[in-house]
Amino acid sequence: MDPRPPAHVNLRTPDVMSHVQAQVESHYRSDLVEAIRSRGGVHRIGMTTIRLAKQFGFCYGVERAIDLAYAAAKVFAGRRIFLLGEIIHNPDVNAQMTVLGIRHLPARPDADDLGELGPDDVVIVPAFGAETGTINAVKERGCQIVDTTCGDVMSVWKRVRQNAAEQVTSVIHGKSSHEETRATASRALGPDGRGQYLIVMDIAQAGRVGEFVEHGGNADGFMREFADAASPGFDPCIHLVRLGVANQTTMLRSETEAIQQILRAAVARRDGGDESNFRYFDTICGATQDRQDALFHLLSESPDLLIVIGGYNSSNTTHLVEIAAHSRPTWFVRNFECLRSSDEIVHYDIEKKSETTSSGWLPLGIPLTVGITAGASCPNNLIEDTIQRVLELRGEAPPATP
Ligand code: SF4
Repeated sequence: MDPRPPAHVNLRTPDVMSHVQAQVESHYRSDLVEAIRSRGGVHRIGMTTIRLAKQFGFCYGVERAIDLAYAAAKVFAGRRIFLLGEIIHNPDVNAQMTVLGIRHLPARPDADDLGELGPDDVVIVPAFGAETGTINAVKERGCQIVDTTCGDVMSVWKRVRQNAAEQVTSVIHGKSSHEETRATASRALGPDGRGQYLIVMDIAQAGRVGEFVEHGGNADGFMREFADAASPGFDPCIHLVRLGVANQTTMLRSETEAIQQILRAAVARRDGGDESNFRYFDTICGATQDRQDALFHLLSESPDLLIVIGGYNSSNTTHLVEIAAHSRPTWFVRNFECLRSSDEIVHYDIEKKSETTSSGWLPLGIPLTVGITAGASCPNNLIEDTIQRVLELRGEAPPATP
């Protein structure tokens, strides 16, 4: 094993980046989407109106991660390049990584996976980051690391590290199985591993945590619910005194807000109105917020139905579906192939957490407005494919090439 740390390599040289930009644009750009955007996000033809949200698709963090992965493929050509899990939550983009020759490691590689790696190998850390234990293990193998972690995710890490330093338990609003939340939780342990965290998935769970904060309760029962969502050695009787709420960057703002209010109120009631044992940092990223705000605006324009495009495991995309599904038919699709016919659509059911097939989704022969949005990990070419497919199924002429 080579004990020397890998040399720092600047991937973002003008030469490399001009090559990368051309390659990325050829894979993900859509002239049609850009043209519709430049016309205010509306495309009318025959009896069909397509309305795009004002903000959708790739965010700055995803664009940067993809650029770095493409740059790594160019700069380290000839070396084995591995990706920890998925670069972002989009199956088409991850498939493209494979085409570039990038191999996939599990997001949480075990000793056997890591045993494969050596100093000549390159390991890409995805946009949501990776757990400290994984990063340290990869470093120990002497690999060249290309870290694409989004700056907004690192801002959350700064908050939870600060909590650990001040003996404050980080309550993380997120999904305990999500890569970003696991990466954040690992930072909440602090450098000495003595920090504490509890991951809270939703308002109902926050209510149960609030109950325990205020009144105590059965610690064993509590830990049965949070066994996979708490730091090692977590004891609710000890570690729910000083709380700092942070969130996965891609959560639903209204839910995060409700959760912090529940916990703040519980701490205040327990401590006789004193809130000094409570802190809250809103760490929802700007891109997630912009896409949620843009969807509310799109819904105010009353589309007859909504198509949300993105990976089924994408947190920010799932929340877009949650926002819209209350008010109108909302179809969460991976790409245009899900739109099988004007009758049949394959889509993800966020309640059942599975892909399903429905019929009668696209009315024909009447004026119709179709709203379209996409999560932060969805490239524009997939949005264009979907627009074209809707128009085709509606029997409209395809848009002229811009
Ligand atoms: S969704 Fe937010 S946190 Fe995630 S990569 Fe994009 S900007 Fe960064």
